[in-house]
Amino acid sequence: MNRRNIVILGGGSGGAVAANHLGESIGRDHNVILIDQKPQHYYQSSYLWMARGWREPQDISRDLSTIERRNVRFFNDRITNIDTDSRTVTTAHAEIEYDYLISSLGFQTHPHLIPGDNHLVHHTWEMDAALRFREALRTFTSGRLVIGISAPPYRCPPGPYEAAWLINDDLIERGVRDNVSIDFFTSEPGPLGGSGQPSEFMREHLNRSGINLHSNFVIDQVDGQASTLRAADGRELPFDLLFIIPPHRPSQVLIDSGLSSETGIDVDVDTLATRWENVYAIGDSVNLPVSKAGVVAHQQADVVAHNIVHQLTGRGDPTRLRLHTL
Ligand SMILES: Cc1cc2nc3c(=O)[nH]c(=O)nc-3n(C[C@H](O)[C@H](O)[C@H](O)COP(=O)(O)OP(=O)(O)OC[C@H]3O[C@@H](n4cnc5c(N)ncnc54)[C@H](O)[C@@H]3O)c2cc1C
Repeated sequence: MNRRNIVILGGGSGGAVAANHLGESIGRDHNVILIDQKPQHYYQSSYLWMARGWREPQDISRDLSTIERRNVRFFNDRITNIDTDSRTVTTAHAEIEYDYLISSLGFQTHPHLIPGDNHLVHHTWEMDAALRFREALRTFTSGRLVIGISAPPYRCPPGPYEAAWLINDDLIERGVRDNVSIDFFTSEPGPLGGSGQPSEFMREHLNRSGINLHSNFVIDQVDGQASTLRAADGRELPFDLLFIIPPHRPSQVLIDSGLSSETGIDVDVDTLATRWENVYAIGDSVNLPVSKAGVVAHQQADVVAHNIVHQLTGRGDPTRLRLHTL
């Protein structure tokens, strides 16, 4: 049998599911290769629980090398280029040819894009930032807390609201909630786009928790000297502790290699195929109007992996994405 190279970029939610599926189905007959710059998979949904003190980093991480038990070869390396003409992925230490490529390189945070004194910004959208915020929250006993969203799209649309409620609970549990004012801002017309049942739920729940909502609040500047967050329309939110979900962008290598714009990789909505032959993209880095969520990446990974197995073995029938999510 002619062994094919199936290369998966990124061992996050989408990449890990695709690699598991392919390794178990066809990993003995073909080369299933997973590449990630990090040695571990982090379960990002638990960053919020980690910040709350309910989880430690080791509880929400798994060594990606354990995937080798499932007939997948793991390369812990940084991807520096993807060439769809020569069908080659370049990493810091190797060049790997592919017959099939699945990109699941996610959506990364860029706090430095927040204008002004952005070094004052806390968030829990990366592992290290979540640990830093946990320390800041532990010693915060009174003052003005501002929580908000710089600009969609970002990972996990309901996440910032969940963060606000978890922080609110933490302050109540420590008996200091009465000493703290909480303001929540979003650049959108309201929570989760501003209309519909989920938006209404978020609005009501913020209200019930005594958290003041500021919609259409587009950041103009973090003014560290005045401890104030300013909006483009002149509104101001004074703060002692500042928590902002930073702007997100696709992995830089996708942009530099010409696969993605700043909003993501264009794909066929049913099959996740890109315009390059045998190249698929899944997860947060695709340019589709769906939530950037692990549950979406998981379903997309299964569809792409199933269809590659079908192409290589003739097993089953081709399938299409039928997304089950909000
Ligand atoms: C605080 C928070 C809470 C969340 N809560 C939920 C939730 O409750 N439910 C839900 O469904 N989703 C949730 N999510 C979203 C979910 O985690 C993401 O949507 C999901 O991880 C996306 O999967 P992905 O494979 O596209 O990208 P990721 O899981 O981000 O994986 C991308 C991988 O690519 C690697 N990578 C990037 N660039 C390179 C490079 N140049 N070289 C090598 N490797 C590279 C990264 O190291 C990373 O491992 C949450 C996210 C956060 C941050």
